[in-house]
Amino acid sequence: MFACGAMRERAERLILRNPYSGEVVGSASMDRRDDVEEAIASVRAYDRRLSAAQRSRLLAAAAGGLLGRKEEFALSITRESGLCLKDSRNEVERAVENLRVAAEEAKRIHGEALQISAGDGNRMAATILEPVGVVCAITPFNRPLNQVVVKVAPAIAANDSIVVKPSEKTPLTALLFAQLLTDHGVPSDMIAVVTGDPREIGDVLLASPQVDMVTFTGSVETGEHVARTAGLKKLLLELGGNDPLIVLGDADLAVAAQIAARGALATTGQSCRGIKRILVAEEVADAFVPLLVEQVRRWRCGDPFDPEMDMGTLASEEAARAVEERCAQAVRDGAVLLCGGERKGAAMLPTALDHVPAGTELVVRETFGPVAPVIRVRDLEEAITVANGTAYGLQAGVITRSFDAFVRLARGLRVGAVNLMEGPGFDSPHIPFGGVKKSGIGREGMRYAIREMTTIKTVVMPW
Ligand code: NAD
Repeated sequence: MFACGAMRERAERLILRNPYSGEVVGSASMDRRDDVEEAIASVRAYDRRLSAAQRSRLLAAAAGGLLGRKEEFALSITRESGLCLKDSRNEVERAVENLRVAAEEAKRIHGEALQISAGDGNRMAATILEPVGVVCAITPFNRPLNQVVVKVAPAIAANDSIVVKPSEKTPLTALLFAQLLTDHGVPSDMIAVVTGDPREIGDVLLASPQVDMVTFTGSVETGEHVARTAGLKKLLLELGGNDPLIVLGDADLAVAAQIAARGALATTGQSCRGIKRILVAEEVADAFVPLLVEQVRRWRCGDPFDPEMDMGTLASEEAARAVEERCAQAVRDGAVLLCGGERKGAAMLPTALDHVPAGTELVVRETFGPVAPVIRVRDLEEAITVANGTAYGLQAGVITRSFDAFVRLARGLRVGAVNLMEGPGFDSPHIPFGGVKKSGIGREGMRYAIREMTTIKTVVMPW
């Protein structure tokens, strides 16, 4: 673990291998229950001594420090995750931007004044946003750095202290980042990182009475366990998705095909807000599909350390096998395979399918891999029904020239965000991000995450 500004290593190790080469790329401490309790106690001691201006300066300094070490962090991400260098470099840039925005938002945390008429007199209420206290952040493997940054940066901005439990598949970049923060002046009692087997240490974090809030990003199944175990704690849950891109009959099909391929294949398809279903109006589907295949075939998949590659591997061979099997099942259910559909080790080839039945597992569940499945729909109404027909509700993208159609979709889709002329994955640190239904509870996006990590205190006075 990393606590009190230093690494504390157990002899028992988590061994990390690069999913492409199988090579051992490092190891992390297999922390135990006692370590986790110690880590929580270390951040519980933080006394909220930093002013907003100081927190802002620390976050800005960390952004500068991270940018200066971009290549080192990008290599760390690629080493432990198998994501290609292009993705890893992008991820570091996004993390820098998130830290910069957090630095700005740290200075803008404020409540409001409410004039109240009560009985014969008037009173004034003022709301004050106080830090929640100790935040526990549990993060997934798919963005080993940025998933940590989007939780740690708002916590620091809000003046909370934080214990991070990164994915056991990708703990090394999280540890590197925590060290970077303390090197840039973040107090050593403000952040700790614990690593190890989630079955052993997860519940210690979740059930601890010393933890005030849990912010979790990961699968629906784990999210449900988190919610049950955390009990009466503040919760922010960013869970899975199977986001649709809806392509209507009036769409610019070349643009739609490009957006569809990028949304389905970026980060090797391992993005919660990646395109998992392409709902195409029947009248243009025959024209759209060849354009999509042309785009998908352009994506180069191979050695993640080769800077020319667009895609690396999935997190493991087992994950790639599961995606391959779901594609094969979709074909057995009536889909037509257009390209890809196979894996090499942990790498899944960029894949496109047409005539995918809306009920096959590939598109009903979240498929975390580089797959572009086309589902043909009759019209806008059927697009809404199919889009809303799964347990998830993260984001959606819409390609149409009709504002009227866009408004009908924006109103009818049960998701957290609808993007026009963009994929569902459109991202900015300034806007809220999060889902409905099983995709989660609460919102990230820097300003919104800071809000989640504060609590309202109201003071009322005669006026
Ligand atoms: P996962 O649910 O397997 O693991 C997520 C985290 O939970 C990891 O740190 C893991 O160690 C931890 N965990 C597992 N069991 C636990 C337990 N019993 N107690 C406490 N912690 C436990 O998810 P993953 O495979 O790492 O990530 C992929 C999933 O994350 C996908 O479903 C993806 O959609 C989702 N995701 C969502 C968002 C979002 O913002 N909505 C972003 C990225 C990823």
